[in-house]
Amino acid sequence: MPMRIDRNQRVARRLLRIEPQMCWRGCGRVATTVGHNPPRALHDHTPNGECCILMPECARCNYGEGTRIARIKKRARANANPSRQW
Ligand SMILES: [Zn+2]
Ligand SMILES: [Zn+2]
Repeated sequence: MPMRIDRNQRVARRLLRIEPQMCWRGCGRVATTVGHNPPRALHDHTPNGECCILMPECARCNYGEGTRIARIKKRARANANPSRQW
């Protein structure tokens, strides 16, 4: 289980360089960035708020997340409103 890290992203990133952690999403990669739990795309994020906690996250999960969730939402909308009659 990855440990919870400091809310200060700059401090957290420095810590990750000194003491590498595994990505909290369990993808098996080493975390090099700081991610939000729950993911930012899934909640109204307020900076310095208590809406989420920072977790060690790999760049792939961190930067790939926004586009992936947007794609899932798009697909869900498309399914809800089928444009084609079979
Ligand atoms: Zn948040
Ligand atoms: Zn990851």
